[in-house]
Amino acid sequence: MKKIIILPPEISQKIAAGEVIERPCSAVKELVENSLDAGASEIKVELLSGGKKMIRVTDNGQGMSREDARLCFERHSTSKIETVNDLNRIETLGFRGEALPSISAVSRVILKTSDGEKGTLVEREGEDLKQVSDVAFPRGTSVEVGDLFFNLPARRKFFRSDRAELSFILRYLTSVSLAYPEVRFSLIHGKRQVFDFPPVAGRKERIFQAFGRALLERLFEVDYAEGDWRLFGYSSRPPSGRRDRSHQLFFVNRRLVKDRTFQAALNQAYRGFLEKDTFAEGFLFLTCPYPEVDINVHPAKAEVRFRDSSRVFQLVVHVIEQEVLKEKGIKEIFPVGEGKKSSFSREEISPASAFRVGEERDLIWKDVLPPPAKKAQIYPQAIGQYEQTYVVALSEEGIIIVDQHNAHERVLFEQYENIDREKRWPKKLTLLPVVFDFSPSQVLSFEENAAVLEEAGFRVEHMGGRSYALREYPDIFNEQEAKDALLSLLEEMKAETIEDKKKKMLATLACKTAVKSGQALTLEKMNYLLEELFKLSNASLCPHGRPVMVKISRKEIEKGLRRS
Ligand code: ADP
Ligand code: MG
Repeated sequence: MKKIIILPPEISQKIAAGEVIERPCSAVKELVENSLDAGASEIKVELLSGGKKMIRVTDNGQGMSREDARLCFERHSTSKIETVNDLNRIETLGFRGEALPSISAVSRVILKTSDGEKGTLVEREGEDLKQVSDVAFPRGTSVEVGDLFFNLPARRKFFRSDRAELSFILRYLTSVSLAYPEVRFSLIHGKRQVFDFPPVAGRKERIFQAFGRALLERLFEVDYAEGDWRLFGYSSRPPSGRRDRSHQLFFVNRRLVKDRTFQAALNQAYRGFLEKDTFAEGFLFLTCPYPEVDINVHPAKAEVRFRDSSRVFQLVVHVIEQEVLKEKGIKEIFPVGEGKKSSFSREEISPASAFRVGEERDLIWKDVLPPPAKKAQIYPQAIGQYEQTYVVALSEEGIIIVDQHNAHERVLFEQYENIDREKRWPKKLTLLPVVFDFSPSQVLSFEENAAVLEEAGFRVEHMGGRSYALREYPDIFNEQEAKDALLSLLEEMKAETIEDKKKKMLATLACKTAVKSGQALTLEKMNYLLEELFKLSNASLCPHGRPVMVKISRKEIEKGLRRS
């Protein structure tokens, strides 16, 4: 082993800088946070080569005196906290006094600032102070960062293309701008103005500026207060989500945070309500008492720790879930802006003769529950079947087209869930034992799932070797169907938890017993299906996460026919 030495400051500074500043976007983030902390109402970000060559952030905040302008580059120089206790209630975005020293240790910095009295220019190159001089400058601050990591080439190698670095910065700025709608943000890359968001009244307007109308129309608003806590924001109207999580943004006391609690809460709130492999879009703003959240967790302050994260989880789930349940979540084929409520009443609807009304062939209609009680609610009214696959119905809001198989599957799934919960599966004995020779993997699956299958009414006896006999099966099948279902179940029940297994099983049973595509239905059956479907809180997706129906809204029909 070599002898221990204390690292000279030019090395230790660079190591420390590397923790705070990873790429141009990290520098932009620190500078913009300083501008926001300085109370700026305008923040302009200019870049050359994706920020690799030059970053300049200019604000009209409170500025600095000459003394502060020199001091701010010293490590642990901050105006934002004074005592250890202050760490418990940090109201500013910065507090560590590390950003400017870190940035200046690894770049060429020109600071121009004025507190309204006299302007100061400070120029630095790495650890060297080059000059401090007078400069004419309006109240505010401009920090120019040239050649980031010029003295740490190993870091520069990790930079991506100009485009990629620019897109990180663009993403960060649009995100942070959502929490400060009263602040004007602009971004200029080379000669190009990338965006310019003037101040607006609220977050909704800012989301509109940053993401456009289409996104906003996919979202509902929540605003919930409980004591000193408030959760405000916008979140996806089911069932349409997004393929990635890039539109999940969380803010705590106006700070953009990466936080698993929020992510998990959104997942929970939308469980079963979003199309397969999609994630909710959510822009959520939480405000809570400062001591409830510790932001001193991460050098770049991106992560936070809640004193009581389960409270945060519960709050988000509760608030979002309520709204999710209210949405009927029917996917529109041609989404349009929110129109006024339609005045289309049921009496005005007369079944159109353009649609052929289905006739019943040999349909085995599965109805394991007693017929529903008298209807109080108004359900969409079936007018016929299209290609013996889709039920066409009229509702107050427009024309609804329902996939008969997926819809029936959805309905049966719910019924089976109830039956399963109450453990009252009707069972039927086989006439003669139905004997199977299972494959080795089927044997394994059977051994793993025997208990769950038995609960649902599949009683299977081991005959020796890989032979098994089906003795009893759920009385929603005929014998052949029961056999098919058992084999499918052995294939499909590979999920991990008992709960997931149950779900898979019920979904398979529902799928096997639901009406098929291509089967003719009577109007009576179609209407029964619609009624059962619309009684469900979550009618829009089948148990496998495929959409059950689409809607052509009245508004869109009127638009298409030039009536509006
Ligand atoms: P921190 O933000 O954690 O305090 P920084 O290194 O980012 O640490 O900044 C150090 C200090 O410099 C700040 O506390 C603030 O007083 C001052 N400062 C930095 N940027 C600005 C700015 N844009 N406007 C006014 N003061 C600033
Ligand atoms: Mg700072």
